[in-house]
Amino acid sequence: MIRPLIAGNWKMNGLEAWLEVIEAIGDGLNKQPDAADCLICPPFTMIAAAAKAADKTRLNIGAQDCHTVANGAHTGDISAEMIADAGGKYVIVGHSERRADHGESDATIAAKVEAAFRAGLTPIICVGETLSERESGETIAVISSQLAGSIPASAFGQHFVVAYEPVWAIGTGKVASVEQVEEVHDKIREILGERFPGQANETPILYGGSMKPSNAPELLAVGNVNGGLIGGASLKADDFLSIYAASVS
Ligand code: PEP
Repeated sequence: MIRPLIAGNWKMNGLEAWLEVIEAIGDGLNKQPDAADCLICPPFTMIAAAAKAADKTRLNIGAQDCHTVANGAHTGDISAEMIADAGGKYVIVGHSERRADHGESDATIAAKVEAAFRAGLTPIICVGETLSERESGETIAVISSQLAGSIPASAFGQHFVVAYEPVWAIGTGKVASVEQVEEVHDKIREILGERFPGQANETPILYGGSMKPSNAPELLAVGNVNGGLIGGASLKADDFLSIYAASVS
């Protein structure tokens, strides 16, 4: 049985005042069953303070990206070691917005996964097809190729998370159907099983793309869906906690 993970991606949102949201989520978790892991990935500037605010709760804090190396001449970048030092436990890598805005390749993402392992962070590795790739019947080929390129061989024996995030469903209000989610998640589980025998049934596979309290119960009930990666609905404590509640009910 894979323990679900409900993860929030705040993207480029969050100022000091938002620590109240972190506190509200942490407090809310104390009133719900301890049957899933819960995570918020705020912007880098908030990680240390958010980790402190969530300290006595079950809420974990993570980052939305990391550099591939530990330190050095990389102006403006943040390493996995720095995230761990600030109290982060997870790092999202390969989000479609980073693939698109920063031209991140599968090889770069694989190197970031290695960096996460090196620093003791759990990487959440994102894959997902664009609308045109789906419409031209390439979804499974795209996902397979992203998984092959973005997960390094060194992931064998390590704890990592995969997030299926159809690009056309992120921040658009369009949600993949239960059938679409099931097809891709089953395929991801199969691919992981072939590549990492004996370990595939330990890897959480999250769905991400316009998940909200109203659709979370049916999405989280799909086979091989072990939680969610949530953007917009993670910005409000009540919405995020409702999604968490759906994962443990
Ligand atoms: C995301 O950014 O990973 C995401 C799934 O966003 P949203 O929930 O807003 O679609």
